[in-house]
Amino acid sequence: MHIVLWDTRQLDAAKDFAGGFGVGQYQGRGGIAGRIIRWGYKRDRRPTALNFAYMSAIFKKLGHTVEYSEDRVPRGGDIYVFNPSLITLHLERCAMRRALNENPGCKIWVTGLVAYAIPEAFDGLHVTLIKGEPEQLLWKFDDVHSAQERIVDVGRVDDLDKLPFPDWSSFEPHRFRIGYDFWKFPTGLVQQSRGCTFKCNYCPYIIVENTTRFREPESVVEEIRLGIRNYGFQSFKFRDPLFGLDRKRVIKMAELIGKLPHKIQFSIESRIDLLRPETLKMLHDVGLVSITVGIETPSEDTLKQYKRAPVRDDRQREFVALCRAMGIRTVAGFMIGFPEDTERSILDVLKYAKQVNPTWANFNVVTPYPGTEFFNIVKDQIANFDFTQYNVYTPVLKYQHLTSKQVQDLHARCFIKYYFRGRWLKTNAHLAWPWLRAFGVGRTWMAQKEALLKPAESPAHGAVPKPLGGLRILQPGETQAAACHTHGHDKNDAA
Ligand code: SF4
Repeated sequence: MHIVLWDTRQLDAAKDFAGGFGVGQYQGRGGIAGRIIRWGYKRDRRPTALNFAYMSAIFKKLGHTVEYSEDRVPRGGDIYVFNPSLITLHLERCAMRRALNENPGCKIWVTGLVAYAIPEAFDGLHVTLIKGEPEQLLWKFDDVHSAQERIVDVGRVDDLDKLPFPDWSSFEPHRFRIGYDFWKFPTGLVQQSRGCTFKCNYCPYIIVENTTRFREPESVVEEIRLGIRNYGFQSFKFRDPLFGLDRKRVIKMAELIGKLPHKIQFSIESRIDLLRPETLKMLHDVGLVSITVGIETPSEDTLKQYKRAPVRDDRQREFVALCRAMGIRTVAGFMIGFPEDTERSILDVLKYAKQVNPTWANFNVVTPYPGTEFFNIVKDQIANFDFTQYNVYTPVLKYQHLTSKQVQDLHARCFIKYYFRGRWLKTNAHLAWPWLRAFGVGRTWMAQKEALLKPAESPAHGAVPKPLGGLRILQPGETQAAACHTHGHDKNDAA
């Protein structure tokens, strides 16, 4: 069969983020300063969603031909596969209709979180909604093909190592670029684990599953090796919702990455207390150059209200300082626009962001994703159900103390006031533009590395070492359940 993977990059959609709901990019309001920030965003070309690369590999393995199409509906497909994001849903519906009209007898398969969380969005279209992980098609292709039902539940992949490696060959991988993480391109996506066991009630990652599955480090690194050889990838973004949950696997993987014939750059998303400083160093030695973390808001009450475990203020600052000293970029997510937010509370987020001072601060507007607990709680306070606006940079709620316009203005102000500062430039220039290091920029920060890595005091035998002023560190075998966390990452990641 001939299978068409239909896609779009319109509206700056990056479909891999927000658990698969996708995000847009910052539009750059607020005059020239805003446009400069926007320009930084626009230079990226995000890789195609990882699940499309898996599907491409799976369909080829099953003996089918695969065609990738952006914004066109080619004729002659037997099956047209869609992976809609929220913001492009209207475009995808249009393309589905066209495929059905122009290719009588063809099938339309809709995959991804949108199909899972809001199946009614496809009412009136003769399509099959694949509920569950589309990689299950490796085993369930025939079942789905012969199914008469509108929704087919395929479940999830039990053993991720049984999947073929993603096939990027159809997606122009040489153009992939994520500039906020890397300075070597092209960039590939890779995943060592799926799922999360935390309960942040606004998070789209836990709509489908609230557990974690891992791949073997050997398999992950072999995929990286082939990614370098076959597609020329020089950098890799790990798409694990929480990297580093299993410390033994992380250490093993770092060892194996260190043995690759080419030095790569890679980035991860994690929580501040999940990575020991020495693990961080080990990862940095083999290519870790960027970490995405969620700080969200300095208000503990707000965090608790939305079921997110707060992390102590000094831990956040120390973590960012250590990364800075090591030469690792930090991409920190901050959230503004909770229903009860005031001008003061939003400016407090900005003030705190300036104090923590990560390399990149991404101010996300709180977005109620369908299927989350948060969505159900605030349903009556949603002002806008137009999903094209759900790009994490547009206010869509009714606010108790602010208008939408005020939230939008404060959002633009956060971005501009954060980046157009002497302290940001002084402390982060060597990270934002690494070539400046050749001229000695950032030398002072990086000289602090050893001091920051040194434990504050010698721990008694068997005691948990407490470097960085008491940063809580996980021990081998310990998992996240025992530790508080911070993490906001790519559900709103578009720094
Ligand atoms: S925000 Fe991060 S830690 Fe919280 S539930 Fe989502 S993936 Fe897990």
